[in-house]
Amino acid sequence: MSLYAHERRIAELAVERACKLTSIVSDSQQKDSVSKSDHSPVTVADFGAQAVIIGALQTVFPEDPVVGEEESSILRKDDGLREHVWRLVQEASGFDNYQTEIGQVESEKKVLDYIDWGRSEGGKVKRMWALDPVDGTKGFLRGGQFAVCLALIVDSKVVMGVIGCPNLLVDPADESSGNGMIFSAVIGEGAFSRPLASPIDSAMPISMRSLTDPSAASFCESVEAGHSSHGQQAKIAQSLGITKPSVRMDSQAKYASIARGDGDIYLRLPVSATYEEKIWDHASGNLLVAEAGGIVTDMYGNPLDFSQGRTLKKNKGIVAASKVIQPKVLEAVQKVLHES
Ligand code: AMP
Ligand code: MG
Repeated sequence: MSLYAHERRIAELAVERACKLTSIVSDSQQKDSVSKSDHSPVTVADFGAQAVIIGALQTVFPEDPVVGEEESSILRKDDGLREHVWRLVQEASGFDNYQTEIGQVESEKKVLDYIDWGRSEGGKVKRMWALDPVDGTKGFLRGGQFAVCLALIVDSKVVMGVIGCPNLLVDPADESSGNGMIFSAVIGEGAFSRPLASPIDSAMPISMRSLTDPSAASFCESVEAGHSSHGQQAKIAQSLGITKPSVRMDSQAKYASIARGDGDIYLRLPVSATYEEKIWDHASGNLLVAEAGGIVTDMYGNPLDFSQGRTLKKNKGIVAASKVIQPKVLEAVQKVLHES
């Protein structure tokens, strides 16, 4: 049996259930959201997905710490929001028959406890999980891309990652192919995808496009101008001779898209000198791209360092592309950084 096969299966079941929860919220059009202390939005889907996924991890791997984006203080003060999350968690778990494998959240109190199990500080620990229950919450709110992301980090290395993308086309070339994909990767074993509605064992290998000339590349970046520098990214693209406009999408769907060859380059140049990227925003995507034949580094060419706690404080910016063109993209990044 391959390494981390059990962890991967549990992660996929948990992410599937969380994706179901996000779909219930989207369909009900009750995307109740509130503002966090950093003024970013958080919805009932973010809380519910974190509860469902940590509930599964606590059932199967009760010792494992989790570095998750959300915590429960807002829910503890807001009865209406908490009850809404609890209803969602119950409804989402009722759609699958995974109870024997990943259990189900037992009570409203457990919703809060599971969410707060995600408050681990991370760092140099033997084994931990990184979780972004709804990555790209702004995308989720506007009906765009978002992703449910769960990764296992062992000795500071991402060894397994899953990304659920409920709004991503099954076939990017066919608008009628339906939405909803799930991606997974295990270190040294390649990257895989399948429609969210298909069984786990139907996953097929994916790989990045084999491009040698970066001028033919297509690149993707965040929708939010506040998350990465559209201006600098446009200059980098121009310096590589890229003429196609960037594809903008929220969340780690960007990593998933380039990993399966919809696009070639993901650029994320910082807009703020002090912002530290969060480990849950990159852990799954980093491994998926590496296992699909790509390289992910920061903007100086350093590998992402997941041993620094909840953030990637030793890194700045993200440059992801296939093995052949990533060094050329990095060169262009250096050139543009020196000019500015
Ligand atoms: P994206 O959808 O790729 O733009 O990324 C969404 C993620 O950006 C969120 O999960 C936040 O953690 C993260 N984020 C928030 N503020 C910033 C910022 N100033 N710079 C970079 N990323 C940010
Ligand atoms: Mg996020």
